[in-house]
Amino acid sequence: MEPIAKKWYDNLAKGKIMGIKCKDCGAYTFPPLTVCRECRSRNLKEVKMSGEGELVMYSSTMLPSAKFADLGKKAYGLIKLKEGPVFFTRIDGVKYNTPDEIRKGNEILPVKVKAKIEKVKGMNIVVFEKK
Ligand SMILES: [Zn+2]
Repeated sequence: MEPIAKKWYDNLAKGKIMGIKCKDCGAYTFPPLTVCRECRSRNLKEVKMSGEGELVMYSSTMLPSAKFADLGKKAYGLIKLKEGPVFFTRIDGVKYNTPDEIRKGNEILPVKVKAKIEKVKGMNIVVFEKK
């Protein structure tokens, strides 16, 4: 495992969701990378993320990675964090069993979401839940 990934999982195990903030341009990068997503600077500091954001769109059609395939169908969506980063991840608290439920759910977006850490198959992952 890459050192940055190991650190990510170590922090999650302690209940901490960390990102990085660029000391040059001020942009946040989440999940953490070794370079700033905006300016490619390596002049970075680790910061605790608020875990607050908005759900922009979601669906349940994306297949889970092989490791999580037997967990069944889940909702996945696009999150825009309060700090700026946008990324795709698992969403709880939305309806996704039928195309109609997904369509109706998307009509009321964006809605506020909050990050939580969940242990899945011995691995800590970050899931976003509709408030
Ligand atoms: Zn930067």
